[in-house]
This record gives sequence, C-alpha cells and structure tokens, in this order.
Amino acid sequence: MACPEVLQNLLEFVPASSLSTWGIGGTVRYVSKPKNLDEVLESFKFAKERGLPILPLGNGSNLLFDDEDFLGIVIKVNADYIPMRIDGDRLFVSAGKMLASMARYARQHGCYDYDYLATIPGAVGGSIVNNAGAFGREICDRLLSVMAIEIKTQRLLNIPRSEIEFAYRKCSLRGTHLVLGAEFQFRESEDEGFSSMNLYRKSTQPLKFPSAGCVFKNPPGNSAGKIVDEAGLKNLRVGDAVVSDIHANFILNMKNATAENVKELVSLVQDRVFRETGHQLVREIQYASEAVISL
Ligand SMILES: Cc1cc2nc3c(=O)[nH]c(=O)nc-3n(C[C@H](O)[C@H](O)[C@H](O)COP(=O)(O)OP(=O)(O)OC[C@H]3O[C@@H](n4cnc5c(N)ncnc54)[C@H](O)[C@@H]3O)c2cc1C
Repeated sequence: MACPEVLQNLLEFVPASSLSTWGIGGTVRYVSKPKNLDEVLESFKFAKERGLPILPLGNGSNLLFDDEDFLGIVIKVNADYIPMRIDGDRLFVSAGKMLASMARYARQHGCYDYDYLATIPGAVGGSIVNNAGAFGREICDRLLSVMAIEIKTQRLLNIPRSEIEFAYRKCSLRGTHLVLGAEFQFRESEDEGFSSMNLYRKSTQPLKFPSAGCVFKNPPGNSAGKIVDEAGLKNLRVGDAVVSDIHANFILNMKNATAENVKELVSLVQDRVFRETGHQLVREIQYASEAVISL
C-alpha cells in the first residue's frame, strides 16, 4: 500500500516474502525506495522521529526475514538512484541496480569483466557489502569507490576502495553505511563466456526452489557443500525447509517453510557436521535481526 503523504516512495505493510529470494517472513511495516539524496535523508528522518530501526536491503538474496513482523523501515535504494553510465574508464551504477543489469550494460559496451557477476542474483549495494564473488573473483576486484551515507552521522561520503576493508564475503561498510552507488573500472575486454558460467550454475545449483544461495562460508581450501554432503545431510528436512540434494550448501523453501524451520535446519546441519567431521561451519547468510540498525 502506498503512503505518499508522509514520504515519497514509501510503502506500508509489505510481505517480507516479496522482499527476499527465500520467500519467507512476516510483514514489514515500512519500505522506503529512495530515488535521490533528499528521499534518503527523509527516510532517516522518518525513522528517527518514530524511533524505528532501519534495515538496508538490496535484492534480499542473502537474508532471512523473521516470521514475526518487522516494525521498522527497510531502505531499498532505487535502481536508478544513479543513472548507469560509462565515463572514460569508469562505470557508474546505483546500489539498487541488479548485478545482471550492470554486467549486461558493461557487456553491451564491450566489457566482459563483470560477466561472472551476472550469475549472482544480488543488487550492487548488497553485493558490495557482502563482497559477493564467484568463479574466483570478487566484486571488490574492480571497485574504485563507493558513494554512501554514514549511518551514524548521516554524512554523504565518497569512499575510495583503498579505505574499505574487504575479505571473503566481508566488507567494513556493513552495518555502518548505506551504500548509494559505486564506481567500477571499465575497459574493453575479451569475451569470457557468460553463457558457460550460466550453464555451469544451472547444472550444479538447485534453482527451481527459493533459496538464498550458499548458506555457509567455505572453510579455507574446502567446500562447505562438500562437507555437508559428506556428513550425509542432503535431504535433511525441518518443516518445508530442506537441504538440497543437488547442492548441499543450499537450503530450499519447498513451499511453506518458515524462518524458524530454516534456522532450526541451519543449527542441525552445523551440529551434525561438527560432530561428524569436526568442521565448524560459519553462516554466509544473514538473519534479518543481524542486519537491523538503530539510529
Ligand atoms: C541462487 C543464488 C545463488 C547465489 N550465488 C552467489 C554466488 O555465487 N556468490 C555470492 O557471493 N553470493 C551468491 N548468492 C548470495 C547473494 O546473491 C549475494 O550475497 C548477493 O550479493 C546479495 O546481494 P543482495 O542485494 O541480495 O543483498 P541483501 O540480501 O539484500 O543484503 C545483504 C546484506 O547487505 C546489506 N545491504 C543491502 N543493500 C545495502 C545497501 N545499499 N547499503 C548497505 N547495506 C546493504 C543488508 O542489510 C544485508 O546485511 C546467491 C544467492 C542465490 C539465491
């Protein structure tokens, strides 16, 4: 339901299931989709005045909403916050743009360096904050700078790559900044074959049921999926949440899985893997409560 008299581009009572790829969760009280800096700042003001926590969100492809309602404000930066453009050797893109659109745009202009990102169903901002990666690359590799609001001070910053710490699926901006846009290196390059990456994914990942991709981080030099598989946990099930039999690092929502089902299954897998192999699997996916920020 739109609520234009309070704030531009604000929605109320949005099912969390429509905001995340797992398709799970209660109702979100407010969702703001700011198109410009004024609307971003208005969203913060709106939250502050009402004592609401905020939750920055991209495509919700790495996040599990709770079954309970979220009584705060989700901020989803609009895909056109910064119109996508190439300027010399730089590519500018909004935090709300999907990686696939960015990769397609780069490709149309002769740059195939971002093809690997097209296979990840995230938005640019969420993917920077997660340092998403695939096929041996990470989004930070060709990042030049990030435009962001520092949440504590609400200052607009242009942060060079050198001032941001990245590690495997980790970035120092998480929980402290709202990413608005980014600048990447652009150069014409050889075709690296998106279609073969896509085919590889389709043959190795269970893409027919809702999920959030890999649930656990890969331990150094190992594969979490292989470890879960070797512990014999494929098809382990709690309610409608099940460990995929195609890729054991995926937990699928077979139809009506709840967040509690998923959380219980995650703990069960961690316990059983630890008992049987000694590995302590660390979650890659985030629970919404861990992403909520109080102003
Ligand atoms: C089928 C499938 C395959 C996948 N394959 C991969 C893969 O190969 N590699 C990989 O790395 N991941 C993969 N993922 C996981 C996921 O797609 C990535 O982590 C993706 O980068 C998350 O982006 P998002 O926009 O969906 O982030 P979200 O899930 O929306 O958010 C993730 C985190 O970022 C924060 N956040 C979101 N937007 C912003 C913002 N603008 N500013 C500040 N914080 C923000 C959120 O609060 C949250 O903490 C896969 C997921 C699925 C469903």
